[in-house]
Amino acid sequence: MSKNKYLDMDITNLPTPAFIVDERLLKRNLETLKSVIDRTGCKILLAQKGFSMFYFYPLISEYLNGTTASSLFEARLGYEEMELKNPNKKLETHIFNPSYREDEFDEIMEITNHIVFNSFNQWKKFKSRVKEFEEKNGKKISCGLRLNPEFSEVETEIYNPAGRFSRFGVTLENFKENELEGLDGFHFHALCEQNSDALENVLRIFEEKFGKYLYNMKWLNFGGGHHITREDYDIEKLVKCINYIKEKYDVEVYLEPGEAVALNTGFLVSEVLDITKNEMDILLMDTSASCHMPDVIEMPYRPFIFGSGMPNDKKYTYRLGGPTCLAGDVIGDYSFDEPVKVGDKLIFTDMAHYSMVKTNTFNGINLPVIAVYTEKGGVEVIRKFGYEDFRNRLS
Ligand SMILES: *Cc1c(COP(=O)(O)O)cnc(C)c1O
Repeated sequence: MSKNKYLDMDITNLPTPAFIVDERLLKRNLETLKSVIDRTGCKILLAQKGFSMFYFYPLISEYLNGTTASSLFEARLGYEEMELKNPNKKLETHIFNPSYREDEFDEIMEITNHIVFNSFNQWKKFKSRVKEFEEKNGKKISCGLRLNPEFSEVETEIYNPAGRFSRFGVTLENFKENELEGLDGFHFHALCEQNSDALENVLRIFEEKFGKYLYNMKWLNFGGGHHITREDYDIEKLVKCINYIKEKYDVEVYLEPGEAVALNTGFLVSEVLDITKNEMDILLMDTSASCHMPDVIEMPYRPFIFGSGMPNDKKYTYRLGGPTCLAGDVIGDYSFDEPVKVGDKLIFTDMAHYSMVKTNTFNGINLPVIAVYTEKGGVEVIRKFGYEDFRNRLS
């Protein structure tokens, strides 16, 4: 297994653990997203929460219309690494945060051009600051309000932004039609890893509740969670949804996918450090579920490993555990056709989104190196981490 038969690139000298993102696969996703832009005239933003690999922002800016952020720091990354570096492309930097901090708001206005508020309280609190800033700096900031359609087909509750008691967005009951003055757009986000039929259903409810106010707006943001680059995604239906809203309400439509940009474009390469036994065979890996792919525990889900099967599907079954001292730092049980040996490399798939952005140095475990594969440069490590990265978040 150490001679790699699953990746068409040479990873023999790649230090492990390593995230490696394949530019060819990323380009393929971006082309799919661009086809939606070209067919509808909508705008698509990269939601950096899911994928913030700024090495690829120059490439992404060739296809998409900018970035969106959930925080000041994400907004700054999108502004500095994408918008500012491509002044001729008219890229946009958006932000939505559930509750802006007063001490961060000036900087947010400096670096963004679209700000979405989560409540009428927040809008009232910051409205005059936006106006003042616009007058003083001769810059237009387009403000929007997040609405909560109170309808969603997301089944994992921690990923359901429109479930009961959700803190996101204004519900119909709390909507105040006489406080819309100055707002240019609406935003909703009610999907997670879903197809366009789920979007169609959300849109129907959204229109019933808020459609009549949309006529006075300039834009509607459909949020993220659109799994546009998944093989079975129904792009025709998405295109229909976008064109329908654009034509009926005469608004600009935004989509802000994170996951769909980087879906199936990256891998986590890890090495087997030891093999032990406690009723079953256990592989001690140099990568950790807790530190390097926390969604495995949070979501929870079971990442796929090249050449593996479900436990007992193949002849040799192992439990894979990480290098931390957390008992639950277990990636899962996997089976293989051949016995695994110390030094073998196992490759986790679909690791570009929601893993690199979620890593941490719990227990002093080092972060995986970040590597890319490009047609020009082959496999290249673009970032390595060390003791300082662990120490600098502590004091
Ligand atoms: C998380 C999030 C996104 C991106 O979601 P994906 O599932 O990665 O597409 C977009 N918009 C908002 C407001 C979000 O919270």
